[in-house]
Amino acid sequence: MPYALVLNSGSSSIKFQLVNPLAAATEKPFVVGVVEQIGEPQGAVTLKTQEGTFAVEQEIPDHTAGLQLAFELMDKHNCGPRQVDVIACGHRVVHGGILFSAPELINDQILDMIRDLIPLAPLHNPANIAGIEVAREILPDIPHVAVFDTGFFHTLPPAAAIYPINKDVAADYSLRRYGFHGTSHEYVSQQVPDLLGLPPAAVNQITLHLGNGASAAAIRGGLAVDTSMGLTPLAGLAMGTRSGDIDPGIVFHLYRNGMSIDEIDNLLNKKSGVKGLAGVNDFRALRDMIRDENEDAWTAYNVYIHQLRRYIGAYMVSLGRVNAITFTAGVGENDSHVRADALAGMETYGVKIDADRNAGPNDGPREISTDDSAVKVFVVPTNEELAIARYAVAFAQ
Ligand code: AMP
Repeated sequence: MPYALVLNSGSSSIKFQLVNPLAAATEKPFVVGVVEQIGEPQGAVTLKTQEGTFAVEQEIPDHTAGLQLAFELMDKHNCGPRQVDVIACGHRVVHGGILFSAPELINDQILDMIRDLIPLAPLHNPANIAGIEVAREILPDIPHVAVFDTGFFHTLPPAAAIYPINKDVAADYSLRRYGFHGTSHEYVSQQVPDLLGLPPAAVNQITLHLGNGASAAAIRGGLAVDTSMGLTPLAGLAMGTRSGDIDPGIVFHLYRNGMSIDEIDNLLNKKSGVKGLAGVNDFRALRDMIRDENEDAWTAYNVYIHQLRRYIGAYMVSLGRVNAITFTAGVGENDSHVRADALAGMETYGVKIDADRNAGPNDGPREISTDDSAVKVFVVPTNEELAIARYAVAFAQ
């Protein structure tokens, strides 16, 4: 059976999966693994296969060593690229700037273009490039395909993409709304017309990717027309550890009062959002705290929901007519309270949640609105790795 290797390389980790591109969305990948703590004294590779979970711990100096170790571990457990028919490798690339609107077959020129985008994603793109370079070295005979987190949002109209900032400065620094989580919003939104029994061109929809990172998108006839993330994935909804939208004046205020730029960056990306308000970023822990009537947890939850409702309201108005609202990712798929509270009291706008359907198990795409709800509400599990695998193997045929 042909498989795709899917790589998601971070600054100190590489997540990898071997995926059957023809698998159903709910099927478990053949292999799931992660290389962690690259560059630290004690690194680790963990591998989950159908036969169990395996791990090695040792120093992993760089991405090359990490991926090599991952391949050795896969080989040892009979699921490596030498035993399994790997026909393509898909790479998640965070920032495609305005250059990339669709997945690209990677060659030296494309790699240089991804390199040119490093100023827009100084933490993410270098790690993505490191993963691509290593994988091309180790697997030189298969197509390597870059799938961009920003690609789906290439269709944002100017009014949604342009920031009201001096246009010469914006041009000099490539400032505009790019949007992220594009693979997920695209994958999920493409399933909605079938669920509605309507042609894709006729569907206006809102997709809500609520994971540790979170973003909303407005999609008209299959094309993204607005999204909550911006130049970077820090904008928009309140998230697990990221602030989302705040007054940009807060940055100047903190800076002028003694915080360094790196400290502010760290504060807004890692120590804010739900974690900043309640001390935890996992919604299961937050729910336990709410049950214990912890006041900070309530505040964090209310702020999260308030921000979410603002975006839903804005997109309902800007789309004019909405056929469907869809929840996805860790929180969106699993937390029925978030879904109910995000859409509570919207009956006048045609949104009616069915409490029993909403409380049902997360076992595939499903409707959670009432039969007479004018706007249908769905939960559609996302599967970015499967989407990337499918893009990658398209270049192998
Ligand atoms: P993701 O980024 O899509 O992997 O989502 C991760 C987040 O989903 C976690 O940090 C949790 O907040 C949330 N999550 C995962 N499982 C559940 C669950 N069963 N109930 C509520 N939240 C969950």
